[in-house]
Amino acid sequence: MANVLFTNVRVIDGTGAQPYAAEVLIQGNRISRIARGARSAPVAGVAIIDGAGATLMPGMVEAHTHFAWNNAATLDAIQLMPTEEHTLWTAGVAKTYLDHGWTSCVGAATAKPRLDVVVRNAINEGLIPGPRYLAASQEITVAGSLGDDMLPHLPYPEFSFGQVVSGPEEMRKIVRMFLKYGVDSIKLNLSGDNLTPKSDARTSWMSDEEVAMAVRETKLRGKRVAVHARSCDSIKQALRHGCEIIYHASFTDEEALDMLEANKDKIFVAPGLSVIVRLLYDGEEWGFSRKWAVDAGYEVELEAVEKSLRAMHKRGVRVLPGGDYGFIWARHGENARDLQYLVKYAGMTPMEALLAATKHGGEMMMKGGELGQVKEGFLADIVLIDGDPLADLSILCDQRKLLAIMKDGVFHKEPEMRSSRTRWSLPAA
Ligand SMILES: [Zn+2]
Repeated sequence: MANVLFTNVRVIDGTGAQPYAAEVLIQGNRISRIARGARSAPVAGVAIIDGAGATLMPGMVEAHTHFAWNNAATLDAIQLMPTEEHTLWTAGVAKTYLDHGWTSCVGAATAKPRLDVVVRNAINEGLIPGPRYLAASQEITVAGSLGDDMLPHLPYPEFSFGQVVSGPEEMRKIVRMFLKYGVDSIKLNLSGDNLTPKSDARTSWMSDEEVAMAVRETKLRGKRVAVHARSCDSIKQALRHGCEIIYHASFTDEEALDMLEANKDKIFVAPGLSVIVRLLYDGEEWGFSRKWAVDAGYEVELEAVEKSLRAMHKRGVRVLPGGDYGFIWARHGENARDLQYLVKYAGMTPMEALLAATKHGGEMMMKGGELGQVKEGFLADIVLIDGDPLADLSILCDQRKLLAIMKDGVFHKEPEMRSSRTRWSLPAA
């Protein structure tokens, strides 16, 4: 681990405070000292990195990741990847996130029962590079809804994207299986999804008995329940049952917003805007016509989700970036676009979007007291950026602007310097 002193950096500390000039000392895997302003005496035995005015901020947290999605255009194409290739693919994607400055990721669902758990364990054992990771179950769904891809004449559950259950006892069995495998969260598909035919995003599918069983079994083991909830009823259902992670939250009414606000200190919302935005505005590139996207319901959903997110943000609900990258229209690594989406669609300021990606992310990783901020004593997950993300969030999408990436006090990407006293110099694009 590092003994590194970053000098001459502009710190965005992830508390919402205005940036300030400082020196930041990393010792072991912790941020041990932050000296504001003037240059202090060098510390013996410490590597000095002159930031030359670059921005130092907390590593980002992706709130809704699917490492197992393979940049395909359909759910089937993800599922049909053989297990061995799929395992290697998933491991490779973990590295991609770290390469792009995401030092933590919350798994939102995986595509085969143990993919996420195996990759998380391999990261933790130092076998493969990757961010801090919370492993998810597969999507648990009901017949005909999002995640049930079984063809009527081919009833082979392993070919289905999600695990299809019917009734509380089947739910208990599958939840216990995932908990046995060691997942950090259980994923339930409560609402439909416009990507699946005949499963409108505004519809709700799972019974209260099934949800209650899943939540009870999961909480017995101290784990969290994450839900795919686009419809208004499914958001309320999730909150009634005490689910902590709400993905999408597209359609709300006053009652749903009141319930979200009442639970704002317990829950996290990650809308995953990329699917809607990309298919609606750029889908042609991949064979999805504008008419198809509108007919599928994405125009209506975008209008609804924008209204919902703005209201949630105003009411202090934590809305986080990330979501459903790993499709052909929004590939792994492009995730920082979500910060711009949060400004555009949720009404955040750039500082609030950064706060969502850092401080709130640390809280979602269940490490709010030591992760997601540049603060003395916090874990040394940081990125050094050429430029000012507050002036232009899009620079976070440019890998070349990420001068250094450190996770747990170890450089994943070491800073390249021409000289210790000159401005950062980047290779031509
Ligand atoms: Zn998702």
